[in-house]
Order: sequence, then C-alpha cells, then structure tokens
Amino acid sequence: MCRSKTEGGLGIRKLKDLQVAAYYVLAWDFLLSKDRLWVSWFQNRYALRPSYWNAVPKVLTDPWCEGETLLQKFGHRRVRRLGFSWSSLLSSIIIDGGWNFDLLQDEIFRPIKDYLHTLPVHARPDKFLWDGGDFNFKKAWKGCRTTYPEALWSSVCWGKARPRWSIHGLLLFQDRLPTMYNLQKRKVQLAPKCSNCLQQIDTKDHVFVQCPFAMNFWSWLKDTLGWTVDFSSIFIVEDLLLWFSSQTSTMIKTLLIGGFWSIWQERNRRLHGHSPTSTSEVARNILFEVFDVYNVSLKDII
Ligand SMILES: [Zn+2]
Repeated sequence: MCRSKTEGGLGIRKLKDLQVAAYYVLAWDFLLSKDRLWVSWFQNRYALRPSYWNAVPKVLTDPWCEGETLLQKFGHRRVRRLGFSWSSLLSSIIIDGGWNFDLLQDEIFRPIKDYLHTLPVHARPDKFLWDGGDFNFKKAWKGCRTTYPEALWSSVCWGKARPRWSIHGLLLFQDRLPTMYNLQKRKVQLAPKCSNCLQQIDTKDHVFVQCPFAMNFWSWLKDTLGWTVDFSSIFIVEDLLLWFSSQTSTMIKTLLIGGFWSIWQERNRRLHGHSPTSTSEVARNILFEVFDVYNVSLKDII
C-alpha cells in the first residue's frame, strides 16, 4: 500500500518515512544556522563551539572527486602516502584559489595531479547541497524511503480509470482477490469452481482469461474495435497485460482495467444467485462506460 503508484502501490506515504524526513529538515535547518528561534537557542545552549558544526569537506572521506572520495578514486596505498589525517580539510590542499601542487611533487602522485588539473577550484564560498541541488522536504522523504522496481501494471492501472477499477486491478495483479482458489489457500472450505462456467477451478487466470465467459468478453471487444490480437495465444493475466500495456491509447489501457472489474462483478452476481447477464451486454456496458470517461463515441474509434 505504501509503495508509489508506479511501483504497484497506492502512493500512500509511510508515516515512519515522513517522520525521518521531518528530522532531516530539522538537522538541515540546524546545520545551516537558519534564522529560527529554536536553532539560535539550540546552538547557544548545546553547540558552544561553532567550528565543530562547520561541516567543511574532508580530503580523504568526502566525495568531492565527482561523486567519489579521493581514497576510492586513487586507492588507499597511494593516497595515504600524501600524509593527510582523517580530519584534514580539503581547504588544506587549496592555496590562493587553486590547488596546492607542492604537495604532489613525487612521481607517484602524478595521476592525482593530472586529475586535479581537470577540476577547477571555485573561489565561491562552500555551500550545502542535497542530491546535487537545494534541499526540501520531498527530497528528504525520497532519500529515506525504500524504493522498489517499477511494476508493469502501473501504466494501465491508473490514468483516467475509475478508482474502483484501479483498486480492483491492483488487487488482481497482486493476486489478492478472493477467488475461490485463494480462499481455499486461506483454509476457507468452499467448492473452488468458477461461477461463470461452473467447470474449472476459479483462479485469477481462469476467471479473467481462460474461462469461456472471459474469452467471449475479450473477443467481443476485439471484434467491435477491430483489434488484431490473437487471444488464443493468451493464457494468463500477464499475457493480456503485456498486450494492453504495449498499446499507445490510454483509453484502451483503461478498457483492460474496466474489463477486469466488470468480469469480476458478473462473476460475483452469478455467485450470489442473480440471473446471469450475457457476455455481450457486460462487454458493451463497460465499453460505453469507458467511452463516457474519455468523452468519445464508437464512431470516433473505428
Ligand atoms: Zn469459468
């Protein structure tokens, strides 16, 4: 739930991440001695040695070599021969607005010397940067949250789809819908047969792709809209997702999510004893609802 929408979640932020990001903001204001009452009070009360808090880059351990530390770039053996301590400041190798090459006379330091020639020294005062730019709460939150790979279904799940379709799609792609098969896995004792065809086991792939009801549903849309897809080669929900996500029209992608939702609605209606609605009527209803969302008509499409 707390993953971003592109990662397959609902885009709700974790409270713990927000709390940590808020701490970052406080620490940032403190380091930059922002003009805040609590900062002045804290500095006077606890940080009586201001130089201690002046975070000036260290020669050995700060990543001032285009994102790398000097040790990472040139190796411990060579760099330690320069004689710097862990607390040596970068400013100790800068003199008169340029690099102090006197320290690098020995031939062993030539690679470092050559590299420094390519790095200009700015006379401007040092500035705190976050992720290469200015700091803000959003960047702090991005920095402390766990990231996940992008989910393929995110491109079809959201957009203009009705929220109930999106949430349903999300549960389907995570295989968390209460199909008979899934309920049985949770030790609920039920006959695991599909209520649309009363023949096969009610798994997500059966209900939405393999069931004759689902096959007729997608075929009706294919014939009506003139799609060239060969549904006989599609066996699982992910196959269908792949075909729809490759389409350029966002309306077609929305139709997939709306289609899944209406197949599920019909399955539930039949399961709870309502009289069945024909496949073509279910498909037509969702098609016109999607048209309604995009404010188009069948004439505009074919
Ligand atoms: Zn079935």
